[in-house]
Amino acid sequence: MSSIKAFRELQNEVTEWRRYLHGNPEIAYEEYNTARFVAEKLASFGINHIETGIAETGIVALIQGEGGDGPTIGLRADMDALPILENSNKPWSSTIPGKMHGCGHDGHTAMLLGAAKYLAKTRNFKGAVALIFQPAEEAGIGGHRMVQEGIMDRFGISKVYGMHCAPGIEIGKFGICPGLALASVDEFDIFVKGRGGHAAYPQRVIDPIVIAAQIIVGLQSVVSRNTDPLESLVVSVTQLRAGEGYNSIPEHAQISGTVRALSPNLRDFAQRQISESANGIARAFGGSIDLKYQRLEPVTVNHPEETSLAIKAARKIVGHDAVTDQLKPTMGAEDFAYMLEARPGAYIYIGNGPTADVHNPAFDFNDEAIPYGIGYWVNLVETSMLAV
Ligand SMILES: [Zn+2]
Ligand SMILES: [Zn+2]
Repeated sequence: MSSIKAFRELQNEVTEWRRYLHGNPEIAYEEYNTARFVAEKLASFGINHIETGIAETGIVALIQGEGGDGPTIGLRADMDALPILENSNKPWSSTIPGKMHGCGHDGHTAMLLGAAKYLAKTRNFKGAVALIFQPAEEAGIGGHRMVQEGIMDRFGISKVYGMHCAPGIEIGKFGICPGLALASVDEFDIFVKGRGGHAAYPQRVIDPIVIAAQIIVGLQSVVSRNTDPLESLVVSVTQLRAGEGYNSIPEHAQISGTVRALSPNLRDFAQRQISESANGIARAFGGSIDLKYQRLEPVTVNHPEETSLAIKAARKIVGHDAVTDQLKPTMGAEDFAYMLEARPGAYIYIGNGPTADVHNPAFDFNDEAIPYGIGYWVNLVETSMLAV
């Protein structure tokens, strides 16, 4: 076991890396400078197996332990920033207007680099560690693409772990959801077709605006009347477009929105129900619809055995009571879910203190969390792959 003291020694250096990344944010699939920075650091730690250009700007690097043969576990950090104008007033604020590290991925990347430096030096474990630096998390696609490009098989990864900073959880504390952690995300567009005409003669038209209004009302009952109140589903209409004039009824209307579900069954149900409800309502008015339904991130589910290991590793670094092992799931989403579909693993939250919330222009990753984050990664590796 490695104690927090060892990781505090890395704090200043890792803070410098973190603030450099913070000042130079790159959004989804543009992380070329970030990836170059990461690859250079990894090489400087004496890591010689580094593959770049995976899923455009992603990187996987392998560190072999000196404890003998064993499995390879994957540790994942995301690298991308957000298209937000920063307002944190920190000296290391974004130098690129309209782009900022508003979700702490600068901290995630820096902490995994810190763990890499430590593990490359000590190598006090069996098997190997695969460091996964992922692009485009905010776009919900980078993790999926890395899995599609075969990283799990190619690097022989048998388990995979993720970590995210959490404003509202104190510095030096961790939290984890046993089982369900985050929701799935889908997007839908309902194209309503009616028959346009003069607004003075409603009897001659099929009004797509009235149909759209009824469909929106109908969608409200998918959750309120068709779903077990103890299960979690959100159906939100977020866009509505129709018409241009005061005196003409348009031909078309468009309704768009998002669906979040905390179980795969509920997700399937919502898709079916939206289609049936919208079709039925449009037909009743003499119109019709086309539904475009796109499934994005799946539900993020922590696996039991790996969750226990994650809790154990976190408790080794901060003590028993500083790790909440019964956090409730939320309706947010993570594309780490794709990695958890491919391999068993767990996703943990690390306290960011009382900062602004993620995706807020005033947010900043809290550098005080750095030794705890590095300590978690190292203890996770050393706990799950004890050296002989
Ligand atoms: Zn985010
Ligand atoms: Zn994030």
